[in-house]
Amino acid sequence: MWVRKRLDIGWADFAAGAAACFTRWNGCRLARLVEQRWSDADEAVFTLSVRSAWDLLLGALDLPPGSEVLMSGLTIPDMVRIVEHRGLVPVPLDLELDTAAPSPETLRRAVTARTRVVLIAHLFGGRVDLGPLIEESRRHGLVFVEDCAQAYVGPAFTGTPEADASLFSFGTIKTATALGGGLARVRRRDMLERMRRAQEGYPRQSRWSFLRRVLKYSFLKLVSLRPLFAAAVRLCRWTGYDYDRALNAAVRGFGGEGVERFRRRPSAPLAALVSRRLSKYNARSVNQKTRRGELLSALIAPAVHSPGWALSPHNYWVFPVLSDDPPATVARLKAAGFDATQGQSMCVVPGPAGRDEIEPRQTRELLAKMIYVPLYPALPEREIHRLADVLRADAAARQTSVEAHVTEESLRQHDAAHLEPVER
Ligand SMILES: *Cc1c(COP(=O)(O)O)cnc(C)c1O
Repeated sequence: MWVRKRLDIGWADFAAGAAACFTRWNGCRLARLVEQRWSDADEAVFTLSVRSAWDLLLGALDLPPGSEVLMSGLTIPDMVRIVEHRGLVPVPLDLELDTAAPSPETLRRAVTARTRVVLIAHLFGGRVDLGPLIEESRRHGLVFVEDCAQAYVGPAFTGTPEADASLFSFGTIKTATALGGGLARVRRRDMLERMRRAQEGYPRQSRWSFLRRVLKYSFLKLVSLRPLFAAAVRLCRWTGYDYDRALNAAVRGFGGEGVERFRRRPSAPLAALVSRRLSKYNARSVNQKTRRGELLSALIAPAVHSPGWALSPHNYWVFPVLSDDPPATVARLKAAGFDATQGQSMCVVPGPAGRDEIEPRQTRELLAKMIYVPLYPALPEREIHRLADVLRADAAARQTSVEAHVTEESLRQHDAAHLEPVER
């Protein structure tokens, strides 16, 4: 069985992370180092996570309660909770299927007199052309933030120059993970200073909790190796344990629900590991993934859609496909040895009551139909061809069953209506 996802971190990184828990003590100096690495114009803030950075950013803006924050309609639930916790109102922007981003028209329609901020996510590893969206936001005087958590490609892209802030994540399932850590590049000086000052008041993440993370994820990486993973899946099946839920929960990163858990400064060993991942960034593995994504895209088109197909550049951080019957497609893929999943990490941003005109319909449909298939450099090309075959066969099977249905039903009606005149 090909596991759904491989953690993008090597054994040497785990070892360095563990060692840093015993040898690196100067968290402030290491954090400065990371920030300077990310931005030579001193525009970076190093945080515990993107969620911490988003919370700090909204705090720094000090908006009147009830101010509205426009958000890409699909994101992780905590990004929405943070907005609400700050006393602000999240407003969804419906996504287009080809870019997995809202159109400028959708943004324009969602703006009211209370709108202050807009957060656009680059989803699935692609990069959205933000030009028209930023232009529209400027027209309404909004603070423009881009969520680049899924779009990390190393130091080659540290954010869209015209955005007010760009958020990058080193969370556990992200590209070049450091098992945590966020980097915000903030181009408004006042905002940047306030975020830094607020963060200085936070307690520091404990190095021992970071060590526990290193151990936990080393174990998960071990289990995701192909033969071990197959054995683990079998064990779960025997014991009646839902490994799908267990895996999705295990990689989520933070336990619990409250926002207080993000309000910590990164520990020194976390800073050391982020610094290591930045300096040793390996473009080759991202390039390999990109090539595999492009191959799979080409092989499944036009029968199967992958949301965000029109994005460029696109490194296929994950590979989502749409199915009219996701559980059936997942079952078919699993039977063929591909551990696909509907995923449980993303949610649709709920619309405020009484504003039906901005209900994110396309986004709801997208999430309901979406499954993730395995795609990473360890997956050989031959297997990608086989994966594409399974996906195409699955789409064709459903197509045929729809046609068969249409044929039987409509023929009966057609016959009833036309048989006599035809015979006459
Ligand atoms: C992962 C992710 C986040 C959160 O990143 P953390 O660093 O784990 O807080 C935010 N937004 C999107 C779109 C993500 O994929």
